[in-house]
Amino acid sequence: MRTLASIQTVNAVEPIPGAEAIERVRVLGWWVVGKTGEYRPGDRVVYCEIDSLLPERPEFEFLRAGSFKPALTDPVTGEVTPAGFRIKTVRLRGQVSQGICFPLAILPADAPTAEGADVTAALGVRKWEPPAPAGFAGRVKGPFPGFLSKTDETRVQLLEAVLERHRGRTFVVTEKLDGTSFTAFLRDGEFGACSRNLWLDETDESNGLVRVARALNLEEKLREARDRLGADVAVQAEVIGPGVQGNKYGLNDIGLRVFSVLDLGAGRWVDHAAAADVLAAVGLPPVPQLGTLVLDHTVDQLVAFAEGTSALNPRVQREGVVLRPPAEEYDPDLGGRLSFKVINPKFLLKFDE
Ligand code: ATP
Ligand code: MN
Ligand code: MN
Repeated sequence: MRTLASIQTVNAVEPIPGAEAIERVRVLGWWVVGKTGEYRPGDRVVYCEIDSLLPERPEFEFLRAGSFKPALTDPVTGEVTPAGFRIKTVRLRGQVSQGICFPLAILPADAPTAEGADVTAALGVRKWEPPAPAGFAGRVKGPFPGFLSKTDETRVQLLEAVLERHRGRTFVVTEKLDGTSFTAFLRDGEFGACSRNLWLDETDESNGLVRVARALNLEEKLREARDRLGADVAVQAEVIGPGVQGNKYGLNDIGLRVFSVLDLGAGRWVDHAAAADVLAAVGLPPVPQLGTLVLDHTVDQLVAFAEGTSALNPRVQREGVVLRPPAEEYDPDLGGRLSFKVINPKFLLKFDE
């Protein structure tokens, strides 16, 4: 489970021009707006990241007006997310605020208070997930296959040490698209299709993802990719278009854009250049390629870099960018592949309901 609530130290407190009652507080790589005088540099606080769903408890009731989310049942898994208060990106007097701080006093008596301690469970905080898009819930074969990794990207605001460690290195930049995650694979001659969390029945055409796979002849393309790579293969892609996330890019047809190609034989990601070649050869479009960047940035500089409009539609704010080295690399702070996202705050302010 992702750490959503943790013990952190306030790094800096700064005034917000034109605002007397509030100021901005730096926690990890985030700016959070708080009441003036509430926190000082060096204070230890409980920090809850954006997408935290705080439980309905008296100490969080002040959030009800702007943040209440009713209980939700996932139509596929039946999993129930209880009602609560969702923390999201807001702008207050011109300052973007991401997350929320509380004094340590909100913790139950037995909770840890050491810097970095995870208090997500102690506070009953859960991750807020948007309801699954209708029409993408069909028959399911089972949980997400163990031989693949789920798609997920860490937010740059947690990675100040990673930015330092990889300073001077070249990263490939792609646009992060806001659709729904899709994985297709060919393994021991067998074709499979998965949503973000589930292995789908690839014959169930009531599922929009299965229809996309069929329309694109994905199985055939994966067979061709396997022959080129000489190994079993998977592609991970974002499905975008009508019926997905409000079709933000205003596309006429549903389709996909690939962001990862995996060599299932070797159990590793195919290098960026080789993946681009194989995708072009079989006729699968990649996510928009925004070139490379030599890393020499603070978190705030990368956030500014992530701002901009989408390569798919210049009238739409892009969700952000994803940065990866040209070849798979392990990073200890990420506990896995070196790859992270930088979200465009203007996108969050506009679209994050
Ligand atoms: P949340 O954390 O709110 O669930 P999310 O569903 O977008 O957000 P993230 O962890 O934020 O998931 O980001 C990873 C997801 O971004 C991947 O699962 C993939 O579906 C999607 N994605 C879109 N474009 C790209 C891209 N260019 N590179 C990598 N992933 C991308
Ligand atoms: Mn995520
Ligand atoms: Mn997404």
